[in-house]
Amino acid sequence: MEITKDVLKELCRNKGVDLVGIGDTDFPLYPTSIVVGTVIPAGMREKGFWQVIPKYLKIFNKNNKALNAVAKVLKQQGFKINKQTAFSFTGDLRPQVERAGLGSKGENEMVLNPKFGANVLYAAIYTDCKLPPDEKVYGVCIRCYRCRRACPAQALTEKGLNIRRCLPYALTACQKCLDVCPIGGIEYKNRKDYR
Ligand code: SF4
Ligand code: SF4
Repeated sequence: MEITKDVLKELCRNKGVDLVGIGDTDFPLYPTSIVVGTVIPAGMREKGFWQVIPKYLKIFNKNNKALNAVAKVLKQQGFKINKQTAFSFTGDLRPQVERAGLGSKGENEMVLNPKFGANVLYAAIYTDCKLPPDEKVYGVCIRCYRCRRACPAQALTEKGLNIRRCLPYALTACQKCLDVCPIGGIEYKNRKDYR
């Protein structure tokens, strides 16, 4: 089987993920990334993080199944792979999501997908199979600064995120900077199948 972007994307979509992108990387051994994203169900955040852990695990599993399918095909063709998920400690996934053309970074420090905003959980696989990257998207954030104004810790400033200010709130599942972001809101809330 010839490995093409379309083949890999179809494999992922068949496993139920919402977004798939192909990116380049800074890793000489793994020049290509395949990034998948699954939309976080609408209304999930209002319930608080600890109550919805099983739902997060379901999303995590969906992403994982897609990447496992990709890994299997790539390995069968003799390519090397390396996986990275939202729960992985091997680094920040946001630059890779941008490089795979799935969104651009907003003032709330999250990658905003044009359709679903920050309401997506991502995972990625790296491979030595060379594929042309998808086109990047720019300027998704409209700089309305609702995120800054809504932040109870004044953790978001023109200098970016002050993690020390944010952390005590984030530990209580504060996500106000995400809830107020208008990007992708309509599309996201229309996802009745996810409620
Ligand atoms: S999670 Fe809460 S405290 Fe942290 S930046 Fe967002 S709104 Fe501010
Ligand atoms: S709330 Fe406005 S400024 Fe903040 S990330 Fe969303 S679009 Fe950008």
